[in-house]
Parts: sequence; structure tokens; C-alpha cells
Amino acid sequence: MKSEMEQDILKVLVTEEEIQRRIAELGAELYDQFHDKNPLFLGVLKGSFVFMADLVRACQVKSDVEFIAVSSYQNATVSSGRVQITHDLQQDITGRNVVIVEDILDSGNTLAFLKDYFLTKGAASITIATLLDKPARRTKAITADYVGFVVPDEFVVGYGLDYCQRYRNVPYIGVLKPEVYANH
Ligand code: 5GP
Ligand code: MG
Repeated sequence: MKSEMEQDILKVLVTEEEIQRRIAELGAELYDQFHDKNPLFLGVLKGSFVFMADLVRACQVKSDVEFIAVSSYQNATVSSGRVQITHDLQQDITGRNVVIVEDILDSGNTLAFLKDYFLTKGAASITIATLLDKPARRTKAITADYVGFVVPDEFVVGYGLDYCQRYRNVPYIGVLKPEVYANH
């Protein structure tokens, strides 16, 4: 039986199994790079919360976890381009090796902004780990160091990613049926 939410999904782009297998690989690579560097895993809310939970458990390094919340979409499916911090860092990141944990790298506005912001806050290094990369829509010269999956130029939901705050708890990455947008 499909859940009520899953009935709104047109197609699955990345399955739960594929996500878990890939995160195990990313965790191992991050371990090699950071096992003696006390990294700070810094998640971009809200979209990254599911990825963060799985990634830090796949990477058994001494580390800590922090979050920042930004908003640029305001319920649209296309970025407005302006990035606003809606919940700021709760700790000093001076001298820290920051691993930004992001759900999806799209235009690049968010990560370009955050990278600069964390450097001005004194981070020693910035590494970007994103579950998804949508290179077709990039307008900022920014690349991720760790990418789970490259996705086509479609609006995706699930595994933390929302449409109007819904579908974050769908356990895979999928695309919504067109009528979901039409009926909204
Ligand atoms: P960027 O600033 O790179 O354009 O966008 C980054 C943010 O936009 C992501 O963190 C994510 O919250 C949101 N975003 C970009 N593309 C998608 C998408 O296909 N689906 C969802 N749900 N959010 C997206
Ligand atoms: Mg996001």
C-alpha cells in the first residue's frame, strides 16, 4: 500500500537503497579526510536534516554537529536568489574545519553565500557535502567536494526535501505529479 504522500509521486529518481549505499561510501571518504581533524558538520536547515542524520552515523569521526537555517524559496519552486539567515549559528566556528551538509546544490546561491559567511566567521576550511547536485541550473561558480547523486533539472522531493513543507519524510527522492502543483 502506498502512503497518501506516495500517491503524489510521479516517479522515483533515487531509491532508499541507493541513498544508503552512497552515503556509506561518502562517510568512508569523509572519514579518510577528517578522522584527525575534529570536523564540524554544519547542516543547512531544513532540507539537510535527514541526510545529516545518516551521514554523521556513516562517518565515525570525533566531530560535532551544528545547524543554520536559511530561506531563499519562500514556497516557490524556483529560487528568489536572495538568501536570508532565519536561524544563525549557536557557536563560534573560528578555526574549525567545517563540512557543510546540504540537501541539494541548485543555482549555487545558498552555498556561495554560506561559504563566504562561514569564512568571515573564521572557519579554517570549508568542505561541501551535498546529497544532490543539479548542475543544469547553476548560476554561481561553486562545486561540491562530495556529491551523492547528480539529478536532472526537475523539482525533487523526499529524504528531507519539501514542496511547501510537505514530503520531507518520503524515504526516497522523487518527482511530484503535475496535478499536485496545479491543485495547490
Ligand atoms: P540554490 O541556492 O543552490 O539555488 O538552492 C539551494 C536550496 O534550494 C536547497 O537547499 C533546497 O532547499 C532548495 N532546492 C533547490 N532545488 C530544489 C528541488 O529540486 N527540490 C526542493 N525540494 N528544494 C530545492
Ligand atoms: Mg536547503
